Amino acid sequence: MDDRQFRSAMGKFATGVTVITTEVDGEVHGMTANAFMSVSLEPKLVVISIGEKARILNKIKESKIFSVNILAADQKELSMIFAGQLKEHREVEFDCLDGKPVLSGVVAQIACEVSAEHLEGDHTLFIGKVTDIHLEDSEPLVFYSGRYRSLLEE
Ligand code: FAD
Repeated sequence: MDDRQFRSAMGKFATGVTVITTEVDGEVHGMTANAFMSVSLEPKLVVISIGEKARILNKIKESKIFSVNILAADQKELSMIFAGQLKEHREVEFDCLDGKPVLSGVVAQIACEVSAEHLEGDHTLFIGKVTDIHLEDSEPLVFYSGRYRSLLEE
């Protein structure tokens, strides 16, 4: 089994797309991520997985907070901005939920405090205790087999 085959297999798991946001010294940093899942209902916990090379890794370690922003179907450009896939820098406005930075127009904003972190291989898993949630009634952006999709596709 080589790296390409592993990546291809993992890409067969259709997911939504999130932008993880955090804030250090008043500066907001975001990163596109699809390694996100719900962990527990009581207490309410989620998990995200951040690669060792991602700049946001140390920022979350320092701030001990993050938000998960589940992108809407029309927010592919935001995903590309926060995945470093666009050449030029774009200004992005942030809102606030429970004192944590969030993006507007997303399907769901989930504000979290880090309750645990686990280094596993080349990624760090952050367990987030959910402190607040805001929901919108819109369709999500979908990622499957390395491509952005929409549930509205024919
Ligand atoms: P940087 O390279 O520092 O930032 C990424 C981009 O966001 C840069 O272009 C930067 O300009 C922009 N940006 C950051 N903050 C702001 C701001 N305040 N205003 C405007 N622009 C800003 N990686 C993982 O580790 N885990 C995952 O689960 C994961 N899932 C992914 C899913 C998808 C669909 C894609 C496309 C990528 C995924 N990645 C994941 C890869 C990850 O998004 C990229 O490797 C990312 O560029 C690394 O982030 P970084 O913290 O080093 O950010």
